[in-house]
Amino acid sequence: MRSTVDSMRREVSELHAELVRYNLVAWTAGNVSGRIPGSDRFVIKPSGVDYDDLKPDAMIVCDLDGSVLEGDLSPSSDTAAHAYVYRKMPEVGGVVHTHSPYATAWAARGEPIPCVLTAMADEFGGDIPVGPFALIGSDDIGRGIVATLRGSRSPAILMRNHGVFTVGRDARAAVKAAVMCEDVARTIHLARQLGEPLPIAQSDIDRLYDRYQNVYGQR
Ligand SMILES: [Zn+2]
Repeated sequence: MRSTVDSMRREVSELHAELVRYNLVAWTAGNVSGRIPGSDRFVIKPSGVDYDDLKPDAMIVCDLDGSVLEGDLSPSSDTAAHAYVYRKMPEVGGVVHTHSPYATAWAARGEPIPCVLTAMADEFGGDIPVGPFALIGSDDIGRGIVATLRGSRSPAILMRNHGVFTVGRDARAAVKAAVMCEDVARTIHLARQLGEPLPIAQSDIDRLYDRYQNVYGQR
């Protein structure tokens, strides 16, 4: 059990560097969490700590109510939202939150990102949906994430006027979804500057999604 917790501390710590590498975060905003396999616990970053200082030892272990079990620092202010998602979506093993600029610009308008790229059909299986406006400090953000994701194949959601939340089978998959979400948000934003992007037929979106989810990559 100890080694599982330690390896999740290391994994979540290292994945925070990916948020910086892909320009998804400013200052101390953004967070990654990972469910500790076989337990009702997850690892998340502390609140307000520089990305350079997010070493494995600084990570916080919480239960699924978001209460701190291990760690000297306060957990991320988004811990309640992560905990809510883990409670309600047992298939989720990782959650990421960012204010990545292009995706958050769509969130500011409350506009879903339309599925007009094959890479987007692959990863998201359709539009990236918008969740409700919700204030931090209760289960409202978590509730909005879960309700919106349940009606979608997308592992990413734009919370209105706020930013991006993504989920995955593990923390790395959730980080990948956050990187891809920003990538398609930027490309489709650029496309819109000179015209209206062309839609992809739903049957083609379905085929692309099925192939990518079930066939693509190394087996
Ligand atoms: Zn936020």
